[in-house]
Amino acid sequence: MTTDCTTTASNVTETRVALVTGGTRGIGEAIAVELARQGVTVAVAYANDTEAADRLMKKADDVGWSMTAHRADIARPEACEQLFADVLDAHGRVDHLVNNAGITVDRTVRKMTWDDWQRVIDTNLSGAFYLSKAAMDHMVGRGSGRIVNISSVIGETGNIGQANYAASKAGLFGLTKSMALETARKGVTVNCVAPGFIETGMVAAVPDEVLAGIVGRIPVQRLGAVEEVAHAVLFLLDDRASYVTGAVIPVNGGLDM
Ligand code: NDP
Repeated sequence: MTTDCTTTASNVTETRVALVTGGTRGIGEAIAVELARQGVTVAVAYANDTEAADRLMKKADDVGWSMTAHRADIARPEACEQLFADVLDAHGRVDHLVNNAGITVDRTVRKMTWDDWQRVIDTNLSGAFYLSKAAMDHMVGRGSGRIVNISSVIGETGNIGQANYAASKAGLFGLTKSMALETARKGVTVNCVAPGFIETGMVAAVPDEVLAGIVGRIPVQRLGAVEEVAHAVLFLLDDRASYVTGAVIPVNGGLDM
C-alpha cells in the first residue's frame, strides 16, 4: 500500500539508505531493486502512478526488502524539501541520492510552448538541483554521501523535437561537475550516468519505425536493459568508487562514438 506520504514495507535503520527519484518504474525501479537486493534501505519517489508504487511495495513486502514509497512532485522546491525531510524521518539518514526522475514533452522548437519547455526543465534539471541542495547539508554534515544524476546521451548530441529534454540533460552535466567540485573535500561524490536508448515506458512511446532507425545507429545493435544502467549507478554508489567524482559514465551501446 502507498500513501501520499510514506509507506513502509519493513523498517531497517542501521543500514545504508538511498533515495531514488522515479524509483517505481523503468530505470529507477531497477536501481531501487538492485540496491534493496544489496541490503540497502531504499526510499523511492514517484509523481502520480500509485499503481506502480503499490506493485513495487508489495514486491518489497513479499521479498523482505526495506523500502518506502513517497509521492512528491520533484518539479517543486518545497515538495523536494518535504520529501527529503520525510525520508530522514522514516530512515534517519540518507547515504545515496539518485536523481533519476525525468519526463519528455517532445515538439520541435517552433511548436514547443513555454509550458512544454518549463515542465521538462523543472522536472529533469531543477528537481535534481532542489533535492541535491536538500541532501547536501546532511551529507556534508556527516562527511559522506553519494549523488548520482541520470542524464542522457541526448544531453550530449541534442535531438530533433527534444530541445527542452536535451537542454535539461546537458544542464545535469554542469550541475554534476559544479556540485562535485563544491563537495570534493567533504567526503561527498557527485557523478552522472548518461544512458542511451533503454527499454522502458519512455522509449515505448517512440514509434516503431523511428525506433528501428535508432537501433540501426547503435553499434551494439540493440536497446539497453534497465539493469545495465542500474549496474553503472551501483558502481558509483559503492564505497570503493570514492575516487570517482564529477564523472559522466555513458551507458549507450557505443551510440556516442
Ligand atoms: P519512466 O518514464 O519509465 O519513469 C519515470 C519515473 O519518474 C516515474 O517513476 C515517474 O513517476 C517519475 N517522475 C516523473 N515526473 C516526476 C515528478 N515531477 N516528480 C516525481 N517523480 C516523477 O522513465 P525511464 O525509466 O525511462 O527514465 C528514467 C530516467 O532515465 C529519466 O531521467 C530519463 O530521462 C533517463 N533516460 C532514459 C532513457 C531511456 O531510454 N529510457 C535514456 C536516457 C535517459 P510516475 O510513475 O508517478 O509517473
